[in-house]
Amino acid sequence: MNNNANVPSDSRSAAVSLQAVSKSYDNKRNAVTEVSLEVMKGEFVVLLGPSGSGKATIVRAIAGTERISGGTISIFGTTVAADGRHVNPEDRGISMVFQDYALWPHMSVLDNVAFALKRNKVDAKTRRLQAGETLAKVGLGSKVNRFPSELSGGEQQRVALARALVAHSGLILFDEPLSNLDSDLREKLRIEIATLTRECNATVIYITHDQSEAFALADKIGVLKDGCLVQFGVPEDIYENPADSFIARFTGIAGEVRGIACGTTPEGLLHVDVPGLKRSVLARPVEPISRGGRVRIAIRPAAISMEATPGATADIARVADVAYRGRGYEHAVTIGEHVLSSVFSAQRVSRGSGVELSLDPRGCLAFCEHDSSERPLAETRIDSAAAEFESGYQEAVI
Ligand code: ADP
Repeated sequence: MNNNANVPSDSRSAAVSLQAVSKSYDNKRNAVTEVSLEVMKGEFVVLLGPSGSGKATIVRAIAGTERISGGTISIFGTTVAADGRHVNPEDRGISMVFQDYALWPHMSVLDNVAFALKRNKVDAKTRRLQAGETLAKVGLGSKVNRFPSELSGGEQQRVALARALVAHSGLILFDEPLSNLDSDLREKLRIEIATLTRECNATVIYITHDQSEAFALADKIGVLKDGCLVQFGVPEDIYENPADSFIARFTGIAGEVRGIACGTTPEGLLHVDVPGLKRSVLARPVEPISRGGRVRIAIRPAAISMEATPGATADIARVADVAYRGRGYEHAVTIGEHVLSSVFSAQRVSRGSGVELSLDPRGCLAFCEHDSSERPLAETRIDSAAAEFESGYQEAVI
């Protein structure tokens, strides 16, 4: 995809602007290739991608701890990195929150936060006052005199958050800040990051490999793959109209099926012949697909609904596994030898039961199959001769 395709045109209010930024560490392969991106003032942008996709390199390039090999970076209208120009990190006016907290171990919690105000030329008394107020906001008002080693991981990350917020720099970079915390704490801190950064109208660039974190936090998401920005947009658009099957898979699917496009409905849905199924699967084409073309259908978990069919022969669609998830039950359903995961229902359907699955075409995303050798993310091909789809414009029934 063209890396510049989704760049907003209103550059006047851009807080951060990347134009064709590239970075190569060893002159062999680019870690980042021609990434162009604009982050508006007050916007919360999440860069999402798997490990090695270039997230940390981009954030380090914006922070100034890494020199870029090509392109331009501007922050609040000032060019901080370009050919022959590199503004030092301390002169970029950025706050950063790291995965490993990066607190001064010899300073108290209060001093860690107050230290961030030193460059603002605020007097010592005011620094400590503002640091205390910000620590109270993140729930650490009673622990200001402790040292980092006397705090839990979650509390240390709150100190780092307070340090970023107190500086009022306008731009905060977050480098996978929740990855070292357990899930309960992650959720709490995620909400605090979302609310407190918006309260102070900070512009945020946040990197993560966790799609649920990205969708929960972001005003806009940039998806990275192999150092390229492959899609940039609001979360709803990324989820509903992923630009390619990699993005669909990376943002959560229950499974995939492959087949051949065999026609369209008046509504523009695609009939796909899937080997082993007696009836075609209805899917929503995310890109132009011609009749006879090879198709990969990525199925969103929410597109699948399941009903137990008492007395049904268990070899059509059968529950292989069931897990209690609080709000309901998550099932893995086999069809022949293959599995669709993340099949939710309010009722528990026990292992081995025969079930009927309905597929909502809106959540069945059809892509051209460019590379048939690429393996599906989950082992989820539905190609049992026993499986049968009930063709219909609203839902297909297995
Ligand atoms: P992510 O943050 O998405 O995991 P990175 O930006 O850390 O990705 O890495 C992108 C690519 O750059 C990877 O191939 C990685 O191996 C390479 N890379 C990152 N840092 C360095 C470095 N200091 N020296 C050489 N290669 C690096």
